[in-house]
Amino acid sequence: MLEIKKLKVQTSDDHQTIIKDLSLSIKSGEIHAIMGPNGTGKSTLSKVIMGNNKYNLVEGDILFNNKSIINLTVDERAKSGIFLAMQDPTVVEGVTNSEFIKTAIQETTNERINYFNFIKELDSCIKNIGLSEDMLHRSLNQGFSGGEKKKNEILQLKMLKPKFIILDEIDSGLDVDSLKVVCQNLNDYLKENQETSVLIITHYPRILEYIKPDYVHIMKDGTIKKTGDINLAFETEKIGYSSINEVSENKNHE
Ligand code: ADP
Ligand code: MG
Repeated sequence: MLEIKKLKVQTSDDHQTIIKDLSLSIKSGEIHAIMGPNGTGKSTLSKVIMGNNKYNLVEGDILFNNKSIINLTVDERAKSGIFLAMQDPTVVEGVTNSEFIKTAIQETTNERINYFNFIKELDSCIKNIGLSEDMLHRSLNQGFSGGEKKKNEILQLKMLKPKFIILDEIDSGLDVDSLKVVCQNLNDYLKENQETSVLIITHYPRILEYIKPDYVHIMKDGTIKKTGDINLAFETEKIGYSSINEVSENKNHE
């Protein structure tokens, strides 16, 4: 479904290399996790998949369903079914949360939505996620707590129904109970949409106990150094990232 080939990424303004020689292949229905130290390029990778123009792709390619997406705009990528739950969701003053979600659905599906069905679905989703109804009428992310922002990303996800989901540290800022609720919602979504693939960026194996990954990758110095199963996440939590240096043979997992 998503194929990243020998990616090299620099910042657009000062041409600093952040990602180098990174390859990753995610098939339909697979769940992959990426772990790695701060500042290693995990969020950059998620933004590059989504098409953020602060970064230049100087080498390599990104294919989605066998077609290169590197020349597509952010909205074209969103329309094709890619969704990013951001590490730091942006505040948009003056645009209410429900208006934002409604517009996003209309833009990605190219259809006018049925308002009655939209409200019904939105109500059921916020109840399941545990957000209060007044959050729908507030400006997007304005004054939302860290946990509320993360839950709101999951609300958008459930309403937009993506085919490929990137979760950038969705677990940071969530208390134990909220994490369970978020994971339950994600698992329900994945059960109903078995073709959907997920890339989970995280520091903690805890989320991976709820959303079981097929592969765990350790990213360091802008590339994937090691690939394994969930045990790699637990091992790494015990020994830390400093001991991971060799590039494993199966790093491309192809
Ligand atoms: P991670 O998510 O793994 O913690 P990031 O992808 O956010 O790391 O950042 C990787 C490195 O690239 C960091 O050192 C960060 O400061 C730098 N970086 C990211 N974006 C930019 C940018 N737009 N301009 C300059 N440096 C950047
Ligand atoms: Mg990050």
